[in-house]
Amino acid sequence: MTERFEEGGRRATVAVSGYCPRCDADVRTVRPWPHWKRVRYGFFGVLGVAAMFSPVILADGCMLIPSLFLFISALGPLNGLAAQQPTCARCGGMAPEPPRDLV
Ligand SMILES: [Zn+2]
Repeated sequence: MTERFEEGGRRATVAVSGYCPRCDADVRTVRPWPHWKRVRYGFFGVLGVAAMFSPVILADGCMLIPSLFLFISALGPLNGLAAQQPTCARCGGMAPEPPRDLV
C-alpha cells in the first residue's frame, strides 16, 4: 500500500511500516520529510558561496556579518531535522526498523 496522508507536516504511512520496540508490535509509522539531508547539503553549499564572497561580507560589518551569524545558527536545528527517525504512530517512540514480517 503506497497511499499516504499528511499529519502535522510529517508523513504517516497508512500501512504497517515499522516495528516498535516499545509497543512490541508491527505498527504504522510516521516518517519525517525525507529531503532534510539534501537541504543540509544545500546549506553547506550556500556557506561555500558565502566563503567565496567573504571580502564583500567582511567589508560590511553592520548587516552582512550578523546576517551570516544568523544563517549559521540555523545549522543546529537543521542537523536535528536531518537526524529525525521514523516514529511509532501509536506511542510516538522510535521505530527505525522495518516490520518483522519483512525481515
Ligand atoms: Zn509504539
